[in-house]
Amino acid sequence: MPIYEYACKACGCQFEHLLLPAAKTDPVCPACQSRDLEKLLSGFALSTSELTKARVKAARTQMAQSKDHKDKQIAEAEYVKHHVEDHLPPAEPPPRRLK
Ligand SMILES: [Zn+2]
Repeated sequence: MPIYEYACKACGCQFEHLLLPAAKTDPVCPACQSRDLEKLLSGFALSTSELTKARVKAARTQMAQSKDHKDKQIAEAEYVKHHVEDHLPPAEPPPRRLK
């Protein structure tokens, strides 16, 4: 049975609608009962490999768009590190036991 995804143009919510062959009812927004809906491409129709390919492609595009992505990540990591170090109490030497 095909499952279609819809986005409600009225309130913006997205929902899945199972299209039953017997019941020829139009999908209605569960949130606001609007019938002003936009049909989305459902992941149901895509095979897993196609979905993975699409995700990899999307990730690569995202990476290409942000050239300094890695630099930013490193800078953020170092910032966090410094930030944490600044707020940590100074490391105390292990207590020595006097004999
Ligand atoms: Zn709605």
